[in-house]
Amino acid sequence: MPQNATGVIARLDLRGSRPGLRELRAALPRAEFDVEAALATVRPIVEDVRDRGAVALAEAAERFDGGAPPSLRVPAEVVAAALTELDPAVRAALEESIRRARIVHEDQRRTDHTTRVVDGGSVTERWVPVDRVGLYVPGGRAVYPSSVVMNVVPAQAARVPSLAVASPPQRDHGGWPHPTILAACALLGVDEVYAMGGAQAVAAFAYGFEEDGAVCEPVSLVTGPGNIYVTAAKRLLKGLIGIDSEAGPTEIAVLADATADAEHVASDLVSQAEHDPLAAAVLVTDDAALAEAVEAALVRRVAATKHTERVAEALAGRQSAIVLVDDLEVGLDVVNAYAAEHLEIQTADAAAVAARVRNAGAVFVGPWAPVSLGDYCAGSNHVLPTGGCACHSSGLSVQSFLRGIHVVEYDEAALRDVGGHVVSLSRAEDLPAHGEAVLARVPEVEPGA
Ligand code: NAD
Repeated sequence: MPQNATGVIARLDLRGSRPGLRELRAALPRAEFDVEAALATVRPIVEDVRDRGAVALAEAAERFDGGAPPSLRVPAEVVAAALTELDPAVRAALEESIRRARIVHEDQRRTDHTTRVVDGGSVTERWVPVDRVGLYVPGGRAVYPSSVVMNVVPAQAARVPSLAVASPPQRDHGGWPHPTILAACALLGVDEVYAMGGAQAVAAFAYGFEEDGAVCEPVSLVTGPGNIYVTAAKRLLKGLIGIDSEAGPTEIAVLADATADAEHVASDLVSQAEHDPLAAAVLVTDDAALAEAVEAALVRRVAATKHTERVAEALAGRQSAIVLVDDLEVGLDVVNAYAAEHLEIQTADAAAVAARVRNAGAVFVGPWAPVSLGDYCAGSNHVLPTGGCACHSSGLSVQSFLRGIHVVEYDEAALRDVGGHVVSLSRAEDLPAHGEAVLARVPEVEPGA
């Protein structure tokens, strides 16, 4: 069990052992983020939006966001005004963030690929964008204009023909989403923006709704990070809609050795802890002196940072710890078992160590690539799998918005050539009509030929 002697962050001492995956999964710190339990809260909200549409959305905003917006659809002039009034420094930063994200995401685009299987027979993988997507931008505890960029840029790079953004109404901003979020939408040319948050926003995208005669059409895919209610709604509606990975409370893991700078490590742990009291910050190190120095730096930095209470809660929570290991081999076992959303490698020969990471949403290599660079301006995407989902899922990318359709083209000779095998397999599966569909075309083929 992790021990928290200083009160700032717990310690988990794995020295003298090399635990296996099962043991590590049980021992490593994780946030209490019980999505299944949240389903009970979310199910009636989702059903209400399905049944009563805009009326239910307005009532949910009254209940959860401190007031309903003037309208669910944000008028074009409100979006445009937000850009006009945007602080020039923030505008320049957003433009640079968009520019870099576009460089990376445009470069990720896949091209259709045709494989000639035999003479006269080919399979093409055709990449087709999803027709319409709903992009969720959180706006509860913090507002995330950067998440507008991270959702919209890959969708646009995938050439999604129709996209809409939703973000919670803000009482302090006339009931519209935060103006910086609206300004980011304007910069990206997004004109369909809704003032809705939480589970109700996901449901609204999934079912569509009508407001004053205007229709918000249902979407095929909802992406974007969010709190437990957003995540639970995505899980509940998965199937009716596609979703990206479950991107819940943020996580940082740092794998560091004696060469790491304790101030860098501590500042990066604090930077992610300020997202949320449930945010996870984990340091894995083989150097006890570094652990001491980081802990001391955390004590100082937590007291001095703006969101002291939130950061202190996140660091002291059961999801955060300093994990001591014998060497970097065990350290790699630990970070691979943990499968962090963000993983920093602050070791000697960091690139070689990073190359051995198998499970992480994104890896930040060496001393000059802090996670906050990736949050805003690296060009990489910041919507990443959390809660260990990085062992099976990827972060948002152009690929998230594309479907690969296999296009099968065979001519008569190619079908005749393989037809006997189709007949044999159809009989083996007791589905003889499958074989008959081939025999109707090329009756002369023999099973097994
Ligand atoms: P949010 O927009 O996700 O949630 C706010 C909404 O939650 C509100 O509009 C309200 O509708 C709903 N809500 C609040 N209390 C409720 C209740 N009791 N019952 C039902 N619904 C309720 O914003 P947030 O809360 O600030 O959470 C954002 C999360 O996204 C944070 O955990 C942050 O760490 C995470 N995040 C993750 C990534 C990633 O890529 N993994 C990126 C950015 C942010």
